[in-house]
Amino acid sequence: MGAILEEYIRRHPRSAEAYRRAKDLFPGGVTHDTRYLTPFPLFITHASGSRKWDLDGHEYVDYVMGHGALILGHAHPSLVQAVSQQVARGTHLGGNTLEEVRWAEAIQRLIPSAQKVRFHSSGTEATMMAVRLARAYTGRRRLIKFADHFHGWSDPLMPASGVAPGGIPEETWSTVTVLPPNDLASVEKALQQGDVAAVILEPTGAHMGQYPLRPEFLHGLRDLTRRYGAVLIFDEVVTGFRTSPGGAQARFGVLPDLTTLAKIVAGGLPGAAVVGRAEILDMIQHRGNPEWDSRGRVGHPGTFNANPLSAVAGATCLEILATQPINQRAEEMAGRLKEGIRTLLRQMEIPGCAFGVGAVVELTLTVPHDCPGDFCPLPYERLKHATRPALRQALRRALLNNGVDLMGGGRFLLSGVHTEEDIQKTLQGLEGALTALRREGLV
Ligand code: PMP
Repeated sequence: MGAILEEYIRRHPRSAEAYRRAKDLFPGGVTHDTRYLTPFPLFITHASGSRKWDLDGHEYVDYVMGHGALILGHAHPSLVQAVSQQVARGTHLGGNTLEEVRWAEAIQRLIPSAQKVRFHSSGTEATMMAVRLARAYTGRRRLIKFADHFHGWSDPLMPASGVAPGGIPEETWSTVTVLPPNDLASVEKALQQGDVAAVILEPTGAHMGQYPLRPEFLHGLRDLTRRYGAVLIFDEVVTGFRTSPGGAQARFGVLPDLTTLAKIVAGGLPGAAVVGRAEILDMIQHRGNPEWDSRGRVGHPGTFNANPLSAVAGATCLEILATQPINQRAEEMAGRLKEGIRTLLRQMEIPGCAFGVGAVVELTLTVPHDCPGDFCPLPYERLKHATRPALRQALRRALLNNGVDLMGGGRFLLSGVHTEEDIQKTLQGLEGALTALRREGLV
């Protein structure tokens, strides 16, 4: 057994014990695929600001940040107050609320393409609805998505998403065309074949920007989808309110027809939305016409749609983003972290780089390169090849041993409450982790 693994096991006896119970209850002992880590994952007891603590009492600088939902950090006082007050007023009021109106108005204020809004409980539901709306609106069947782009776990969006695809019927796959990123010619060719309802993408690139898309590609997609009458869907579940207060669309000046939002949109509670062009969202509209209601209309139930807890958390969070320089601060800290990682890799003579747009930093080891700005110039195939799952798992464990928790083994999701001190602590932790990886011959 390597020294990293030995230390990980030695430091976390209580997590190991808790995992023994969890293993008999949950498949794999976890409740989300990305939380799976051998020989056992950590159990977290509580969190505050940029930090969290495990069952054995260790403190971490947290970059999982609620899978990207917490741009204001853990347990932000304004959110704690808003949610606490709402709990006492009722968690489900079984009717329309002013809170949902306030929440939608807060979204409209930030997201430039949000003519209309419809709420859901998760990003998966939002992308599923966006696809359904696009199909109903265009009367077409096919979807175009891009290699490795992740849009939740509904059937039509699972192909080439990086998630194990068991249980999905063949017929579903036949309606989806998966294309390489940054290649407009292949998109045009697929659109020319006809019957394309929608083109869907993560606008900064697959897996929160791990395999970057160039902004010119977004502009090109806008032109092509308009020309061929397909609905352009930006999946801004991660980039919404993170890449800029108005998401990737505001940062890059490209307005999609539909946008899916989750994570930050609900201020750290479960919640999501599809927003976009009124005439497409209005496929859900009641028109008092039996023919429309039974055939054309897209139905939309959902017990917890716009529940008041998520509504007040989301509205409070978005109102803070609209009035305070939270994104600016998160991006500033991301810049410091990227620079610090690059310097460290150069000093230690370890091939790799850190890149990312807005408040996300992606660390790729093993390929020597330098990213002058936010974008990594390496082609998708090269970056994909560089991503070795075993190395990412080892890095994750080594960083946990050194007081830092990453998302997915190479991704830092920052918040507006990460500080200079956090960045320094992280870089020290990374130096310790890389030293340990080197000792085991992994870098
Ligand atoms: N789209 C993207 C781009 C995501 O990253 C995710 C979740 N990480 C989803 C959709 C699905 O969101 P949820 O987990 O809320 O279903």
